[in-house]
Amino acid sequence: VAKGEGKGQWRRYQPDLHTAITERLTLRTELDAALAGDQLDVEYQPIVALSSGHTVGFEALVRWNHPTRGRLGPQAFIDLAEESGLIEPIGEWVLRHAIEAAQSWQGNGRANRPYVSVNVSAWQFRNSTFADKVLAELTDHGVAPGLLMLEITESLLVRDDDRLWRDLARLRQAGVRIAIDDFGTGYSSLSYLRAVPLDVLKIDRQFTSTIAASAKQRALVDGIVRLAHTLGLEVIAEGIETSAESTLLTVLGCPYGQGYLFAKPLPLPATYAWLARH
Ligand code: C2E
Ligand code: MG
Ligand code: MG
Ligand code: MG
Repeated sequence: VAKGEGKGQWRRYQPDLHTAITERLTLRTELDAALAGDQLDVEYQPIVALSSGHTVGFEALVRWNHPTRGRLGPQAFIDLAEESGLIEPIGEWVLRHAIEAAQSWQGNGRANRPYVSVNVSAWQFRNSTFADKVLAELTDHGVAPGLLMLEITESLLVRDDDRLWRDLARLRQAGVRIAIDDFGTGYSSLSYLRAVPLDVLKIDRQFTSTIAASAKQRALVDGIVRLAHTLGLEVIAEGIETSAESTLLTVLGCPYGQGYLFAKPLPLPATYAWLARH
């Protein structure tokens, strides 16, 4: 009987593993179709000046309108997209839409034109034509390079990759700004800050969300903001949900932020109404 039980357990496990693999394969095929079939979508979360509330830019965040599972966030499919190589075409698609959005925001004779900030996966930089494609896309849409920011993660920078650093330098020389996303959450040494061409540090939500509750967290954020200023970098705090967090960040000298306190990521049409009010 005990033997039978053991066998039963093994049998119970296997179908689950099988299901997981099948689901992944299905999702991969579906993601392929999503790209071809217009199921992807980009939302834009306002980035604001904390002191005035003025919108200075928007972060582009990809979404997938899955035919049966509903609207999926990037957590549900970006890893898969990276593993399967689909991140390249998806990334290009997001970039093009984001630049089109920036182009549409500079209309209406607005004095302060918001920038667009795009998350870029390490995989996209592996393609030697990435920098060229970005600059060509900007030219095609008549968008100034200064209105584009690219967000990369620390993990990308630990790789000692000459071409990557040259590409970053080239984009920056053209006027595109480079931000480190989720700053402080990676395991990398800080030495890259000395070597890598950068413009902006984005303080991860895990710091922002604990700043009001803990003096230690405040000290950490204080340190990050000072470090950024010393290095001549701009700072943006992510995930601001309360006015207490916003006030504390302002006191610590962090000038910019984004989060549900101000706005959730918005569909493109809603950004126009948002800009009219902010
Ligand atoms: P991220 O770049 O750090 O983006 C910030 C995430 O925090 C977004 O989640 C945003 O919706 C969420 N967020 C913003 N404000 C708040 C807040 O006040 N509270 C909370 N709890 N969350 C907030 P989202 O859209 O689910 O994106 C998750 C991650 O997926 C992004 O993190 C980014 O790393 C990645 N991602 C998004 N779009 C793209 C893309 O087009 N390409 C690539 N490679 N990655 C992307
Ligand atoms: Mg980001
Ligand atoms: Mg982030
Ligand atoms: Mg984050």
